[in-house]
Amino acid sequence: MEILEHPQQILSWYIDAGVDEAMGEEPLDRYALAGEAASKRAAQAEQLLKAAEAERAALPPKTSPRQSSGPVSIQPADNGVSEDSIKTAVEMAGKAKTIDDLRKALEDFDGCALKTTAMNLVFCDGPTDAKVMLIGDVPGADEDRQGVPFVGAGGVLLNKMLASIGLNREEVFVSNAVFWRPPGKRSANLGEIAVCLPFVERMVEIVDPQILITLGGMSTHSLLAQQGNISKLVGKWFTYETPRMSHPIAACGLYHPEFLLKSPAMKRQAWANLLSIQAKIAQLDA
Ligand code: URA
Repeated sequence: MEILEHPQQILSWYIDAGVDEAMGEEPLDRYALAGEAASKRAAQAEQLLKAAEAERAALPPKTSPRQSSGPVSIQPADNGVSEDSIKTAVEMAGKAKTIDDLRKALEDFDGCALKTTAMNLVFCDGPTDAKVMLIGDVPGADEDRQGVPFVGAGGVLLNKMLASIGLNREEVFVSNAVFWRPPGKRSANLGEIAVCLPFVERMVEIVDPQILITLGGMSTHSLLAQQGNISKLVGKWFTYETPRMSHPIAACGLYHPEFLLKSPAMKRQAWANLLSIQAKIAQLDA
């Protein structure tokens, strides 16, 4: 490899690579920041894992039926995820440069036991340059069969919700907080969420949408690092940013479509939230 030593050589190399604009007053060492981001992600995931362990210690282990909706439904089941798995997840996700790399990393990753019971990896759907990105909770049976997120009844409602504010499903990027379907009808436990989180975060960094929408409590709590009942979080705007990203992303929580199927009375509030998303898109487009 040719080593560039002369400042003029380095500048020419930058210009050839398309780096022709100074974005800030102060130089920014993105390599150092990427390292910090990875440690922050590992710390966040480890925190989730510790909370899972505390929950497990405090409660008799049991598997309750999944209540897939609105208010978060994390179950204190066996989390079956080690700290090493989380570190490996952070490392593997951090190396991915494209969505295809990230899919390959998940295919190779053996740190989440859900992989052994699921039929398929349910990775993502939509264009990788989408302006709007949505993250749900866990794949259901239809998604597991097809390996595509939001293709079941919840997906049908999601498509209608998007259409109501002028968005086509084909133009948005959709994924989940957890990439494999938990067996039976249970939800994901905190360990499973923690070990998938580094991949989800890297996915947001790669797609770099203008707007990030978390569907339901699980993704709002884990991705936006918010606490409290989802009913108090929906419709509020937050910013999502990691040091690897060059700008913050507008992010908000929305009721999960499967929750709305079971609680149609909440559609009124969801509609108000959708209008706020539509207004945000118009504002960003202006
Ligand atoms: N619910 C989700 O959160 N994701 C899916 O992919 C399907 C149902």
